[in-house]
Amino acid sequence: MKRKISLIILIFGMVLISACATHTHDWEEATCYKPRTCKICKATEGEPLEHVWLDATCTQPRVCELCGASEGEPLGHDWIEATCEHPKKCRVCGQTEGGLADHIWAEATCLHPKKCVVCGVTEGTTLPHTWVRASYDSSRYCSVCGVVEGESLTPAFEKRNYQYTIEKGTTWDYTTIANADDSNVTGKATVTDYRKYYSDGAHAGREGYEWREATVEFRMPTGCKVMVGYTDTYVGMEEYAVTNYITYPDGTRLPVVATESYKYDWEDDVCVSYANLAVQVPESYEDLVFYVCSADYAYSGRVDPNIRFMEMK
Ligand SMILES: [Zn+2]
Ligand SMILES: [Zn+2]
Ligand SMILES: [Zn+2]
Ligand SMILES: [Zn+2]
Ligand SMILES: [Zn+2]
Repeated sequence: MKRKISLIILIFGMVLISACATHTHDWEEATCYKPRTCKICKATEGEPLEHVWLDATCTQPRVCELCGASEGEPLGHDWIEATCEHPKKCRVCGQTEGGLADHIWAEATCLHPKKCVVCGVTEGTTLPHTWVRASYDSSRYCSVCGVVEGESLTPAFEKRNYQYTIEKGTTWDYTTIANADDSNVTGKATVTDYRKYYSDGAHAGREGYEWREATVEFRMPTGCKVMVGYTDTYVGMEEYAVTNYITYPDGTRLPVVATESYKYDWEDDVCVSYANLAVQVPESYEDLVFYVCSADYAYSGRVDPNIRFMEMK
């Protein structure tokens, strides 16, 4: 009996040994957490795998491609601010959020209407040019876009073909109307002085301006009606007076200062009178004209045959 038991143990033991010695491992592949392991005997081989990390994205942390484990934080979107052309948008993944931004307007100029500097869309119309008045040297031009228009100015004196330039010592016969009886009276008119200066005791200076002052003497056999003044556009009655502005040919008016005086005296039965006129004009102004005419003709609106225009250059 004892022998039989021993045999059974022996056989069982042999079966056990042969089972271990003869099975083929049935491997379960390694994972990130455990090595390759036999499903039957739990034997292991090698090391667990290393995680294979996929880069983090805007919305997800980095993730293991093999086991799905995650680590760290999502990167967050890298936003490009919204413009009038696209909403707020992620530079990396392209995701958008919200609506379009307002246009960014550049004010209208003479070159273009009100215009978005981002997308170029326009609204309204262009502005008029900002003209800089023509001068005797250049045409008028736009200070914004530089466009040039028209001609440079022509002094009225040249345009109207006036014949005289005021000059000290010039004398001419002058016929006008006697104070006493409206009869014609002829004498001599003489330019006794003509000067240009910046300022003097009676005339204050002004930057960019100069005074032009003339004195004309009248030697007449009787008291008479003489009128003096300056004009830049000789158009009629209105201009037979000292005005406090000058008019450029393009129509712009500029205020100026003018002083006028007239006095007369009897000298040896000759009526001597002096007309003095001083006008403060821009240094380059070329249309200043001194005139002498008969007051009676002027007031009646008739053209004085003796009117004399003298350019005050
Ligand atoms: Zn095994
Ligand atoms: Zn893993
Ligand atoms: Zn993103
Ligand atoms: Zn826009
Ligand atoms: Zn312009």
